[in-house]
Amino acid sequence: MEKKARSSIYKTIPAMAIVPLMLFGLLVLIICSWRFNGVMHEKVEDELQNIAASVAATYDTVYPGEYRYEAVNNIAYYYKGDEEITGDFTIIDSLKDATGAEITIFYKDVRMLTTIKDDEGKRFIGSGVSTVICQDVLDLKTAKFYDGVVIGDYTYCAYYMPLLTENGGCIGMIAVAKPSEVIKDLVFKAVIPIAFVIVAAMLVAGFISFRYAKNLATAIGNLQKALANVAKGELSKEPHYTVMGRNDEISDMGKSVVSMQKSLHVLIERDALTELYNRRCANQRLKKMMKKAEDTGTKFCIAIGDIDFFKKVNDTYGHEVGDKVLVAVAKAMKATMTGKGFVARWGGEEFLLVYDETEYKEGLAKLKAVLDNVRKLEIPDERFEMPIKVTMTFGITAGGAEDDMDQLLRIADERLYSGKSGGRNQIVGE
Ligand code: GH3
Ligand code: MG
Ligand code: MG
Repeated sequence: MEKKARSSIYKTIPAMAIVPLMLFGLLVLIICSWRFNGVMHEKVEDELQNIAASVAATYDTVYPGEYRYEAVNNIAYYYKGDEEITGDFTIIDSLKDATGAEITIFYKDVRMLTTIKDDEGKRFIGSGVSTVICQDVLDLKTAKFYDGVVIGDYTYCAYYMPLLTENGGCIGMIAVAKPSEVIKDLVFKAVIPIAFVIVAAMLVAGFISFRYAKNLATAIGNLQKALANVAKGELSKEPHYTVMGRNDEISDMGKSVVSMQKSLHVLIERDALTELYNRRCANQRLKKMMKKAEDTGTKFCIAIGDIDFFKKVNDTYGHEVGDKVLVAVAKAMKATMTGKGFVARWGGEEFLLVYDETEYKEGLAKLKAVLDNVRKLEIPDERFEMPIKVTMTFGITAGGAEDDMDQLLRIADERLYSGKSGGRNQIVGE
């Protein structure tokens, strides 16, 4: 099977937060530009249409009558009413000044009068228009707006209006034009503030979502590290504050990791029946205590205790009751432990008692209190009138940095067994 390329949430989560936002911003910008372009075209078309109407109206007012064309000796003469208007640019020039639009008056498709000049200042007189414009305006006698009309080196948006005569013919056209750049400028100017707002909003939203996404990715990454640590057996280190400091499902998972560590701790360190430390954990604690004794010179006492005639308890009352007795004895011993130290289940019905930072005399006194408490224990059993009572035998020894732990344990064990052979229910010490 092909191995899937590994991705990382450190990259994907922030990217997922940013990329759709950027695409959305871009889309809004494109739609805005497209809509504005349409609106501006309509606006410019309306404006050019109005200018064309006022050009026609001005000529009608100044020179009443029809447009007329005459050619004498191959020289063209264009009339409006009785007035010959060929070469008279006064009206169109002043209208251009007033409106900012280029104005052209055609005979058929030939420019007779125009405000459009080339780079040397020469007017585009005598030039024609495309066949499309001829067909649309001259043949069909309808006014029309075009964008992208090329005249000289420039591109224009232009409105062409047919000049109709009384007999229903079309003698020419009035064209009003503005450079296409004007529309682009208008669109640009309208879109710029919107683009600015969109970019600013995207930056703010992007920053917020990027930060959130990055924190989330960091938290998930640290949670993964915490779980990997637990898998390696690290049970005391809490997940990072980027996990625990949150207040959501991620921190809940962090808390679950801590609970898992605690549960594993109990499983690893504690004896399931009595909940005392198990032998493995007791050995680790002994090592730590010995290290401390070596560093600081403190003294300690070690005792091993064993329930007397425990086999008889099992035989008389059953194994389950035996367990109950073990739990009660463990509880009684733990309750009697004061100061530094611990109790552990050393074997079946054997217990280890450790008194840290304790001199022999004090340790012995504490152990006597433990034995007294065990003696006082009364474990009831419904099948018998009398409660079950047990005694214990202990061997105790004092130790310090100069001693060997295995040796100390052996001494305690030997003393325990001499206590057993010496009648049980007692403490054997130095
Ligand atoms: P002594 O006074 O010499 O110590 O006699 P004893 O009967 O206590 O010693 P022995 O070693 O003969 O018997 C110990 C018994 O403890 C045998 C074993 O079945 C029992 N035992 C060990 N662990 C458990 C346990 O977890 N639960 C129960 N119910 N019994 C246990
Ligand atoms: Mg035993
Ligand atoms: Mg025993």
